[in-house]
Amino acid sequence: MVFGFFKDGNELFDEAQELIKQKEYAKACKKLRSAIEKESDDSNLARVMIEFIEVGQSLNDASKYRELSASLDGIDGTFDFGLSTFDVKELKEECDAMAVAIEARNSYANSNTDMVIKGERLIEAAKILQLKVGNDVLAINEYFNTSTLTGTRLSIALMAEGNELIADGTFWNDPKKAAEYQQIAYNFRRQLGESGEYNQRKIREYTMTCTCWICGRQATGEGMHFFRMSADVSPEHVRAEEGELAPSTEPGSPMIFVCKACYTSISRRADAIAKEYHERSMAELESVRRQMMAEVARLDSRITSLSMRIRN
Ligand SMILES: [Zn+2]
Repeated sequence: MVFGFFKDGNELFDEAQELIKQKEYAKACKKLRSAIEKESDDSNLARVMIEFIEVGQSLNDASKYRELSASLDGIDGTFDFGLSTFDVKELKEECDAMAVAIEARNSYANSNTDMVIKGERLIEAAKILQLKVGNDVLAINEYFNTSTLTGTRLSIALMAEGNELIADGTFWNDPKKAAEYQQIAYNFRRQLGESGEYNQRKIREYTMTCTCWICGRQATGEGMHFFRMSADVSPEHVRAEEGELAPSTEPGSPMIFVCKACYTSISRRADAIAKEYHERSMAELESVRRQMMAEVARLDSRITSLSMRIRN
């Protein structure tokens, strides 16, 4: 009768189903793993269930979606989980599309070239999501998060992000083109019901042209190709002959516009001067410190010899 205490794989699998209905996912996973070890007839399904739970617990981990997608190859038709039923083919397509989207979002982009590449990946992911999930709600996200996010809505958000990144990556070489990408991103942000204020500000910055106060060259693209610098500008210094030229100052503000070349030459020289001062003062501090340490040592030996004299 001892054998009665040992449950077989199928019993363990059935118990896991009850735990899933109660949303006891950690306990359910444990049971499902035991069911697989004991060669339950539903081992493939158990594997899918474990991975489905793991995706639910880390909805931003692309590798979890990929693992679930691979396990879904082992079952057909529909997949029952708790009180819900999912279409296996649709679920797999959602997993594949989400994995691509998350990988694109998490990819590292530091240089202009990488930003353009990442932006293109995001747009590609957006197209896949639109094609594979479309107007349907993202099922896994809905199940675990009670979210009503549709494939289309996430796709639009990715389109906006992608175009914003390409704009950032293009700004250095082509501010006008960058403004066009930012305009596309703005349209997507509006579709999402957002204000698009960020994109409009960027477009203004990208397209603004100035005449450098210092060298007189024209520069387009604030924050990249020219900067505002604080200065005391007397009214008579604002050159009357500017005429048709783009402005060198912001009217009514103590700021002048300076092109990147002038700006970097000034700031690099200022940095070098500051570094020189820093090194000089550190050297002086070090010499004072050494003198003080010598004085402390001298006093220390004096105290030792005095205390020895008192004791004797
Ligand atoms: Zn200049």
